Amino acid sequence: MQSIRKRLSILFAVCSIGAIFLIILFVNITINKKFNQYMLDIQNKRYERIVGFFKETYKKEGKWTENSGALLMHEAYMSNYCLTLYDKDRNVVWGMDPNDVRSRLHLNTMLVKEKGVYNTKAFDIKLEDGIVGYVEIGQYSSVLLTEEDVNFKIAVNRSIIASGILTLIIIVGLSLYISKEFSMPIKEVSYMSASLSRGKFDVYIKEKSDIEELESLRYSINILAEKLKQQDMLRKRLVSDISHEIRTPLNVLQNNLEAMIDGILPVDINRLNSLNEEVIRFGELLDNLNILKGFETESISLDLEQVSLINLLEDVCKDFSVAVENRNLSFYCNIDSEECKIVGDKNKLKQVFINLLSNAVKFTKEDDEISVSIEKYKNLIKIEIRDTGIGIDKEDLPFIFERLYRGDKSRNQIEGAGIGLTIVKNILNLHSAAIEVDSEKNKGTLFKIFFKPLIK
Ligand code: ADP
Repeated sequence: MQSIRKRLSILFAVCSIGAIFLIILFVNITINKKFNQYMLDIQNKRYERIVGFFKETYKKEGKWTENSGALLMHEAYMSNYCLTLYDKDRNVVWGMDPNDVRSRLHLNTMLVKEKGVYNTKAFDIKLEDGIVGYVEIGQYSSVLLTEEDVNFKIAVNRSIIASGILTLIIIVGLSLYISKEFSMPIKEVSYMSASLSRGKFDVYIKEKSDIEELESLRYSINILAEKLKQQDMLRKRLVSDISHEIRTPLNVLQNNLEAMIDGILPVDINRLNSLNEEVIRFGELLDNLNILKGFETESISLDLEQVSLINLLEDVCKDFSVAVENRNLSFYCNIDSEECKIVGDKNKLKQVFINLLSNAVKFTKEDDEISVSIEKYKNLIKIEIRDTGIGIDKEDLPFIFERLYRGDKSRNQIEGAGIGLTIVKNILNLHSAAIEVDSEKNKGTLFKIFFKPLIK
C-alpha cells in the first residue's frame, strides 16, 4: 500500500516528465525545421551569388580561364563546398578537389556528424546571348552548415534540455510540497480518530487547511471529538448520579434497619412509614429510568388528534394556579391569542407544559414571577414559559436536556430526577417541534417552543 503523498508525488512526477519530454520533442522538431529552412534560404542565396559571380567574371574577361574561379576558392573551402566550372561544351575549365573538403570535415569533429554523401548541383551561367558555361557546386550534406551553425544548433538543444531538467526539479519539489498539503491533514485526522477510539477525547487539530474539503474534515472531526468528550462526561456523571440516587435511600434503609435490629431504635409505625417512603423513592427512580428507556427506544406511540394549544394551556394554567399561590408567586397567562391548532398527542403535550411549569415553580423564590404566552410567529406558533427564578449556570445550559442531568444547585438543594426536560425534548421531537432556552443566573429562564400549525 502507498501513502497519498507518495502516490500523488509519483503521479505529478510522471505527468510532468511526460509533459516536459513532449515539450522538448516538439520544440526541438520545430526549431530544427525552422533552422534548416533558414539555412536552405542562405544556401540558395549563396548559389545565386556564385552563379552571379561567374556571370560577371565572364562579362569582364569575355572567356573562361583557369583563374576564373580562383577568387571564390578560399570561401568555398572554408564553407565546405566544392566548385567546378565547365564551358558551354561541358569541358572542365577549373575545379576544386572534393577530397580536400572531405579531409577538412574529418579534421573538424564538430562537423563530422553533419557530413553525409557527396552530392552536386549544376547551374547554368546564362548571359543575353545564351548559356556560356556551367558551375557545379558539390557538398557533403543536404544543408551546408558552418561550424558556427552547428554550435548554435547544439547550444539551442542544450538549453532546451537544461530548462527541461530545471522545470522537472521545480515540479518535483512543488509536487512534494502540494502532496504534503493533502496528506498531512488526512494523517492528523487518522491519528485523531485512533486517539478517539482509545477513549482519549482531549485531542484537537489546530492547523487549518486552505483546501475546502480538508478544512471541513478537520472541522467535523473536532466537533466529533468535542461531542464525544461531552458524552463521556455525561456518561460518567450519569453513573455517579444514579449510584448516588440509589445509595442514599439504601443507606437510610440499612442504617435504620440495623438500628432497629440492634434494638437502638424502636420499631414503630412512623419509622416504618418513613422507611417505606425511601423504598417508594427508590422505586420512582427505577420508574423514571423505565420512562426514559421507553422514549429512547422510540417505543412510545402518539395518540394523534387535533389539539387546540390555547385550550391546553388554559387547562394547565388552571391546574397550576394553586401551586403558584402557595408559593406566593405572580403568575401571568397571556393566552388570548387567535386559535392555534396542531395535530398532536394531547396528553403528551400537556406533560410538556406541566414539566416546564413545575420547573418554573421549583426553581423560583417567593415573590418571583412566572408567565406563559402564546402567539403566531412567522409561520409557526410560539409558546414562551418564562420565570424570574434562580436561572441556569452557563456550564449547565448545553446539557439540561440530557437524561438525568441536573444543575449542580438543583442536585444539592432541590428535589428532582433530571428527566423532566429529557421527556419534554423527546415529546417535542415526536411532534417535530423545537425548543430553545435562554437563561441567566439569578435573573431567570425562558423556554421557547415552536410548533408547526395545522394547515387547513
Ligand atoms: P429536574 O428538574 O428533575 O432536576 P429537569 O430535566 O426537569 O430535571 O431539569 C434539568 C435541570 O435543568 C435542572 O436540574 C435544573 O438545573 C435546570 N432547570 C430546568 N428548568 C429550570 C428553570 N426553570 N430554572 C432554573 N433551572 C432549571
